[in-house]
Amino acid sequence: MPDTPATEPDWLALDRRHVWHPYSAIGADSPVYPVVSASGVRLQLADGRELIDGMSSWWCAIHGYNVPEINAALNTQLDSMAHVMFGGLTHLPGVRLAAQLVELTPARLETVFFSDSGSVAVEVALKLAIQYWHARGKPHKQHFATLRNGYHGDTFGAMSVCDPVTGMHTLFSEALAQQYFVVAPTSRFGEPCNTADTAALETLLTEHHEQLAALVLEPIVQGVGGMHFYSADYLEQARALCDEYGVLLICDEIATGFGRTGRLFACEHAGIAPDILCLGKALTGGYLTLAATLTTAEIATAIRQGDPGVFMHGPTFMANPLACTAALASLQLLLDSPWQERVANIEVQLTAGLAPCREFDVVADVRTLGAIGVVELHEPVDMQRLPQQFVDAGVWVRPFGKLVYLMPPLIINTNDLAELTGAVTRIISKL
Ligand SMILES: *Cc1c(COP(=O)(O)O)cnc(C)c1O
Repeated sequence: MPDTPATEPDWLALDRRHVWHPYSAIGADSPVYPVVSASGVRLQLADGRELIDGMSSWWCAIHGYNVPEINAALNTQLDSMAHVMFGGLTHLPGVRLAAQLVELTPARLETVFFSDSGSVAVEVALKLAIQYWHARGKPHKQHFATLRNGYHGDTFGAMSVCDPVTGMHTLFSEALAQQYFVVAPTSRFGEPCNTADTAALETLLTEHHEQLAALVLEPIVQGVGGMHFYSADYLEQARALCDEYGVLLICDEIATGFGRTGRLFACEHAGIAPDILCLGKALTGGYLTLAATLTTAEIATAIRQGDPGVFMHGPTFMANPLACTAALASLQLLLDSPWQERVANIEVQLTAGLAPCREFDVVADVRTLGAIGVVELHEPVDMQRLPQQFVDAGVWVRPFGKLVYLMPPLIINTNDLAELTGAVTRIISKL
């Protein structure tokens, strides 16, 4: 156990004894840092130290923390209604948000199903695809094609389409639905597609399209499965192959949505529209848990006309009015801001700031896209030591596996971003 600060709060002992953290073990040695407040791009620890946030709380906090506009919108909504069931009732925050998402996303997408988390948005997408084909008289189309290195969440349906190895769910393999995996695209973003990649996808579709409801993928950025940025050309060709073989395309933009890659949605890099789109993470600007699954009118109509005539899913907290209000305020803020320019500037600074890492023997690759900067090492990092070193340097950077990466709030200024890239470069230089 590393030295804990003198001002460690009493409740940290309770945390150690009773509280699970993401991918953690109770009683294990990995430190957690008590945070008492957050504002702008800074997290304040219980001992008074401030950390510059390089993670946006896992893609979410695009405007940073304690955002006056979102706070105000939430306070107003709280005075009228925190929550109400969505079965048989509706409300303005939910309707307005749905209409806005339909307007912002590619033209084909016209309906919105709200849920509580990204994983559930993926479950909903898989169920929509199956129900669509069932309604179209093709009940055998209940399986999915997906890319190696993919990550789509931690629930059972989502786990079944995660990479069986890098997707962190190998031990559950016997319990998971068997899906069809195709090699991940090898050509990088900005390059034309390697024809072997699309040939592999076409072979899979030729052999299995009778069983396939959809191809599920993360457009352009494969996140947790390795932070790879792949060719937009591949995505364009995948769309065409799905059409040719009668397989729906599900784009999981839970990580990439809302400007992170330099486009509002990553599928815009390829100029394509999916049949089903999953959104989450930055949807509420990191304030509240909310996700959305969008579909075309064609899918919605087929489901209504099929048996049993309704879509078989309905979360208790569907379209929570507070969460929808946070999302509306966050979107307003984003669209009113010069976000393209900000992301472009962050990209330039991440590229220059992380470039020195290329010289280090421990580093395999350095890459940036939009407001994402990645340093890939040859070996997995030491999670006992490295997080502590970042905290000591005054920054919040949480590596995983071989990856040390930055995806700061989009509102970060040049000095704070220089602190982040400087800390990453310095700490990796000493590995
Ligand atoms: C985070 C993530 C999910 C899962 O979202 P949760 O809100 O953690 O359930 C799914 N897909 C992608 C691409 C993600 O990055």
